[in-house]
Amino acid sequence: MSDPTFETAFTKAFGRAPEGAWAAPGRANLIGEHTDYNDGYVLPFAIQQTTRAAVARRDDGLLRLHSADMAGGVVELRVDDLAPGTTTGWARYPAAVLWTLREAGHPVGGADLHFDSTVPVGGGLSSSAALQVVTALALTELHGVEMSRQDLALLCQRSENVYVGAPVGMMDQTASACCTAGHALHLDVRALAQRQVPFDLAAQGLAMLVVDTHVKHSHAEGAYGERRAGCERAAALLGVPALRDIAFDDLDAALDALPDDGLRRLVRHVVTENRRVEEVIALLDAGRTPEIGPLLTAGHASLRDDFQVSCRELDVVVDTAVAAGALGARMTGGGFGGSAIVLTTADTADAVGAAVAGALARSTSFVTVPGPGAHRLW
Ligand code: ADP
Ligand code: MG
Repeated sequence: MSDPTFETAFTKAFGRAPEGAWAAPGRANLIGEHTDYNDGYVLPFAIQQTTRAAVARRDDGLLRLHSADMAGGVVELRVDDLAPGTTTGWARYPAAVLWTLREAGHPVGGADLHFDSTVPVGGGLSSSAALQVVTALALTELHGVEMSRQDLALLCQRSENVYVGAPVGMMDQTASACCTAGHALHLDVRALAQRQVPFDLAAQGLAMLVVDTHVKHSHAEGAYGERRAGCERAAALLGVPALRDIAFDDLDAALDALPDDGLRRLVRHVVTENRRVEEVIALLDAGRTPEIGPLLTAGHASLRDDFQVSCRELDVVVDTAVAAGALGARMTGGGFGGSAIVLTTADTADAVGAAVAGALARSTSFVTVPGPGAHRLW
């Protein structure tokens, strides 16, 4: 769908017309948190908010980037000079994608890219993955590079790991690239197997509230690394490649075999969380969507008490929502701030939202339904 305002913004930034426009959504994770780097299961869905890119190729070896959401005007880079760790600020995300495409041998050169976004930036809903995926989809389609959506997502993950230098898993990019409307995406991270699981909220008289706490606690990155390292240590001590290999029925034996309580808590979260993903999927497949609520809330308790990645603001949102009649609620994303999801019946969504706003004045919320993954607009 063409949007003259968006095209005009491109033309204002770059002095010519774009060749096309693409969109990629942010995501919320329904259940399966901190399981991706344990080779486990995740179940994200695309939110309706997207990052858009208007793009035109260049043949002079320049990459020029502009975002309506960032101050500072056009960022100009030389494609041949791109190298991991050299780009600063927001431009490193799209630069990383172009560098990684070229590293992989794809014939992709310079371009002008203008972005705008309705995904809250830094809100735990993966505006960064939306930015990467929309860049990758636009550049590959414009240059006629054939690539599966899963491979495109893995390329974006690699770009963030290697070029940006963040040791993230692959859930966010895969969700943005591969989700479909009316579904959550069951992803088995080890097998790279995907299945679209029916998650049509409106048809079941339900609503999903996404509540952005607008907090991001500064210890988040260090804590992520610590949790990740702890999970790897526990897996090594238990003699398995990853915690995904501990079956739910073997959890007690695994806990007994570990030397300290910190590691026990990490393992208990990961193993029970993988189980919750399976239980949620079984309920969704059976059309019993309202019954997933308690599993969402149990997942939050596990993240709060065992994995210890929640924070006061997220707990306030979840506790308030459940007390106000929500079917279930949990933090979504890495934790220490960011957003929570709240499942309600359609007719209680407003009351629950009002209760949450009353309890955490700085929060904002919106109602969403599972939207489409990345796509070309025109
Ligand atoms: P989240 O992915 O949860 O929104 P991150 O901290 O991972 O938060 O990513 C946010 C960063 O991604 C921003 O600081 C910026 O560098 C980049 N970014 C996201 N959206 C945009 C956008 N629309 N324009 C420019 N940069 C963006
Ligand atoms: Mg991010």
